[in-house]
Amino acid sequence: SESLYSLIESRFPADRAKVLLETGDGTVWRYADVEAGAARMARALADRGVRKGDRVAVQVDKSPEALVLYLACLRGGFVFLPMNTAYRPDEVDFLVGNAEPAAVVCRPTDEETVRGIAARHGDPLVLTLGTDGTGSLVEAADAAPADFPVVACAADDLAAMLYTSGTTGKPKGAMLTHRNLAANGLDLVESWRFTADDVLLHALPIFHAHGLFVACHCVLLAGASMIWLPGFDRAEVLRHLPRATAFMGVPTFYVRLLAGDDFDRAACASMRLFTAGSAPLLAETHEAFSARTGHAILERYGMTETGMLTGNPYDAERRPGSVGFPFPQVEVRVADDADTPLPTGEIGGIQVRGPNVMKGYWRLPGKTAEEFTADGWFRTGDVGRIDDRGYLFIVGRAKDLVISGGYNVYPKEVESVIDDLPGVVESAVIGVPHPDFGEGVVAVVVPEGAGAPDEAAVIAHCKDHLANYKTPKRVFFVPELPRNTMGKVQKAQLRDQHADLFK
Ligand code: ATP
Ligand code: MG
Repeated sequence: SESLYSLIESRFPADRAKVLLETGDGTVWRYADVEAGAARMARALADRGVRKGDRVAVQVDKSPEALVLYLACLRGGFVFLPMNTAYRPDEVDFLVGNAEPAAVVCRPTDEETVRGIAARHGDPLVLTLGTDGTGSLVEAADAAPADFPVVACAADDLAAMLYTSGTTGKPKGAMLTHRNLAANGLDLVESWRFTADDVLLHALPIFHAHGLFVACHCVLLAGASMIWLPGFDRAEVLRHLPRATAFMGVPTFYVRLLAGDDFDRAACASMRLFTAGSAPLLAETHEAFSARTGHAILERYGMTETGMLTGNPYDAERRPGSVGFPFPQVEVRVADDADTPLPTGEIGGIQVRGPNVMKGYWRLPGKTAEEFTADGWFRTGDVGRIDDRGYLFIVGRAKDLVISGGYNVYPKEVESVIDDLPGVVESAVIGVPHPDFGEGVVAVVVPEGAGAPDEAAVIAHCKDHLANYKTPKRVFFVPELPRNTMGKVQKAQLRDQHADLFK
């Protein structure tokens, strides 16, 4: 069988008494506990009618039991479908209606609402799971025998379905197979040198590919251990860091760690690896981090549909602003609008191929067909270039590209120029409708304290370094950029806000 669970199980430590995870308050889950827990939970779900291939939709806070539930689904051949914990009832209603799960697992406090949603969508089983390990799912699992076998799965069977973050439109369900997840997990373990000696400090949410697959698979496939925090709390991260060897974060985690002097070389004495992704890491953050800790953050790039695509090297230079090289089983190319690969250094659409690439978008065959080229490459929707040393640089998303007076403006280029100005923390460059130019370039800038430049100074600085058509016509100052829980800047929101600017 090609079940991801079988692969993971084959890499469990021989001594199942080894600790798989320890929570912030010191509760220990050994490999044996998690293995038996997954078998019981799979049994409890199967006894209530959940079958291989059925979706199990989950909106719960992070807990050890939530990880056990993921493994129970892999074990049973059920399709794990995590939902962002911030989703409101309307959004849950959309996903449940779209995915038609056989079971929905929710927080005990949401049970009534979710029962209402379930009743509207074919009446799936509703079970609850609280942060403290209470709830009807756990009760059912506790009462079940730990004898549920690992259900045989083909490489192409679905293991999980994750919805994209919805940064550029409505979230799409990415159908991920056992092969997709296994291939990418093995690539990461190898590239990032995970071994049984590692202790990963886990502070990411687990409803997203980053915290769920990237982080957990590195640990599970290496037979390693993790410290399992409910979320990112700076003091808690600093408290546990001295026992960890690896940490994975979204860029905002690193900005927050750097915000106090107590994060320094000594705090990182046991660490061997810091990785970043899900959103661009500012070169400035990368450099400040190196100066403070002596560690170069390893930035990597990936997406829900494909898992991890490229990463900076473990042994060679990790370049600020670059997302590095393709992982071993991944192919990456930069192509023009006709899908013809472009020469080194030229900017174009980033396309990828490999065993990591999803089977397709759930119930969106049209969209799936649109995003694959005739020769089987997946269009990431990101725009970038590969330099002569093979490093990939992302210059923005195709949907964020600004076309002003017929010229392409890559937001990242303009943002980098603005971010270089003293007194600027960061910026977001967008295009909004303009009667003469089609789109007009607008910059939204986060100033740093009192020494911040004004609108005229930002424009003058851009004119010194950029062609006129790239220079923002207007500059706005805000205390912070709108971001989602993964630290992604919500440019669509900024565009809406300034839509009437030039009208
Ligand atoms: P949607 O597809 O619904 O619009 P989304 O693309 O934000 O949402 P995800 O799959 O969570 O959903 O995010 C993948 C995207 O995140 C990538 O396509 C890329 O734009 C961005 N990304 C991930 N890692 C990096 C990185 N290191 N640097 C820059 N961008 C990154
Ligand atoms: Mg996307």
